[in-house]
Amino acid sequence: MYEVEHWINGKRVKGTSGRFSDIYNPATGEVQGKVPLASVAEMDEAVAKAAEAQKAWAKVNPQRRARVMMKFGDLILRDMDKLAETLSREHGKTIPDAKGDVQRGLEVVEVCMGAPNLLKGEYMDSGGPGIDLYSMRQPLGVVAGITPFNFPAMIPLWKLSPAIVSGNAMILKPSERTPSTAMMLAELLQEAGLPDGVLQVVHGDKEAVDAILDNETIEGVGFVGSTPIAQYIYGRAASNGKRAQCFGGAKNHMIIMPDADLEKAADALVGAGFGAAGERCMAISVAVPVGQETADKLIDLLVPRIEKLKVGPYTAGDDLDYGPLVTPQARDRVMGLISSGADQGATLVTDGRDFTLQGYEDGFFVGPTLFDNVTPEMDIYKEEIFGPVLSQVRTDSYEEALSLVMKNQYGNGTAIFTADGEIARDFASRVNVGMVGINFPIPVPLSYFTFGGWKKSAFGDLNQYGPDAFRFYTRTKTVTERWFQHIAHGGEFHFKAMD
Ligand code: NAD
Repeated sequence: MYEVEHWINGKRVKGTSGRFSDIYNPATGEVQGKVPLASVAEMDEAVAKAAEAQKAWAKVNPQRRARVMMKFGDLILRDMDKLAETLSREHGKTIPDAKGDVQRGLEVVEVCMGAPNLLKGEYMDSGGPGIDLYSMRQPLGVVAGITPFNFPAMIPLWKLSPAIVSGNAMILKPSERTPSTAMMLAELLQEAGLPDGVLQVVHGDKEAVDAILDNETIEGVGFVGSTPIAQYIYGRAASNGKRAQCFGGAKNHMIIMPDADLEKAADALVGAGFGAAGERCMAISVAVPVGQETADKLIDLLVPRIEKLKVGPYTAGDDLDYGPLVTPQARDRVMGLISSGADQGATLVTDGRDFTLQGYEDGFFVGPTLFDNVTPEMDIYKEEIFGPVLSQVRTDSYEEALSLVMKNQYGNGTAIFTADGEIARDFASRVNVGMVGINFPIPVPLSYFTFGGWKKSAFGDLNQYGPDAFRFYTRTKTVTERWFQHIAHGGEFHFKAMD
């Protein structure tokens, strides 16, 4: 049993609220540690200290701030194995997948190494007679990042890197289910030269989050998690006058056209549907083949691939396909949804409910589950399952498939598999979803683009990472300037009376 601590002013500090949350080892089902849940007073104190540290940090020139990111990137690579192990132990994902989690966060750190270029303002010479205009980007002050359990390294890195390199101090409130990776990142940042207090890691639940939302010093809030909480945080932060960007849940559809390479489509569906046990906001959870023949062929290709999937604890080796769900509650919820799909008339092609693993009977495993003949009224279609469950919805035309995607309340990611460039272009242009893959199942944009969904998958108006992150974490000040006639109009040779 271990006890996680907060990270305040460059030191590990024990929680004083007396409230804790259990941390599971999802593979064994055991409670392996506990994390403190901060009180309002603990949060307010951390914010006050961050505000002090931010004043000096904002004065450090951007290139020097970027050098901290350069060193940080090296240290992340140095400690990749330790980070991945810590992450897998609390989350349950496989080690190669945990390294991917760290890597996709590191890529944002790498973009932040070029921050000075992204922090430049604009200049207009002679916008009027003798009048110049320029704009500058200034940090907000203290900002907060509230992150989900499913990417314990990547999403904290998406939040803290652009925020800090822009001259802000950050309060990071990681998920209480997977809190330890954030602590390692904080230590690495200190080793990279970040002054104490610029990053505070404060653990907690709703009480800590509400303390962030109501704290008058905090100027901006970046959230990633489920849609109801994203909407709540967006509303409360905005009504308290804070800048907020809140990213929510998803139900990502993949359309498979009759002309698609179906073998490749099936490979893509298995990876994107079952990887990380489906606990990804960019997982493909709905396969939408066009035409009954395409649908039949796809099922025939999916079943043998699903039967070969290797499910187990992260310690079982790198050829593992996915691990357990994160908590017993998550497992029970997914099991309940599978039962509801069967009860509501979907065809249960492979059933993951009976999955057991010798020696890990108490782990939170769910076997890979495939439904066919799913319809939009069923709960398995309406809900974000966030488990290893793939639903096939049959359609008869491209327009019908497109309209299914368009009508869905979520708009995080989507994909189309086809050999027809005209259809692919039409899909990319018309679909009301933020991230689109063409013959690409999980279209998470590279770090120099930006990441963000549409509809109920995001609240706020700027995306995560890339240029948008620098706009979010800075505000623009514009100066209009003129200088009156003086020396250029002739030298002055006499002492002037100082009147
Ligand atoms: P969650 O909403 O339960 O928790 C996210 C964060 O909010 C955590 O830090 C948690 O402590 C806090 N929180 C939980 N309940 C709260 C409450 N009532 N009031 C205030 N704060 C609260 O999400 P999760 O289960 O950790 O993560 C999974 C969800 O995140 C899925 O819906 C997934 O799609 C989504 N997600 C979205 C993206 C994206 O970029 N759109 C990325 C990753 C995950």
